[in-house]
Amino acid sequence: MHAFPSGTLALDFVGTLRVRRQPVPLEQLSSPMLLDAWFVESGLLDEEPASTEGDLRAAVKLRESIYSLVKARLTGAPLPADAVAVVNRQASGAPELIQLGFGGRALRSGSAAQGLASIARQSVEIIGGDDGALLRECGRSMCTQVYVDRSRGRRREWCAMRTCGNRAKASAYRARHRGTVEKAGV
Ligand SMILES: [Zn+2]
Repeated sequence: MHAFPSGTLALDFVGTLRVRRQPVPLEQLSSPMLLDAWFVESGLLDEEPASTEGDLRAAVKLRESIYSLVKARLTGAPLPADAVAVVNRQASGAPELIQLGFGGRALRSGSAAQGLASIARQSVEIIGGDDGALLRECGRSMCTQVYVDRSRGRRREWCAMRTCGNRAKASAYRARHRGTVEKAGV
């Protein structure tokens, strides 16, 4: 199962390489099957697009290009030109097809390349739009998930409260209570 903590599809996609600062980051897209699963679990496509090894390579290349652009935005560095070229090339493709079903539900179909086009287009809107100034990295430094902080007062600290927020709070609580327990001589 893939994780979708950030509330933004393209940034959850970037998060499929987890704990980026660890010596060996966790790769969640290690096979075309896992890429297929991501498309369906994300809701981008209704059916697995039967991704190939080539699609997987393109997906990882797009993901890392988006990440390097986000990182440049976070640090105020100039955007790396090669990453801009990769994202623009993918964004120029046709995105998935979306149609209204007779039952009233939106139906999404397409190939892996179309799914990637959609992710690339969304990342262009984020990085190149007003959201670019709201990009943040999760406050739990192990995590490295990026997100757009649209919260009131821009005070969102975590990629997701349910996971990182609670973990950070629990470890702060333990740290406080360890002190109390030691003082009590238990
Ligand atoms: Zn996090």
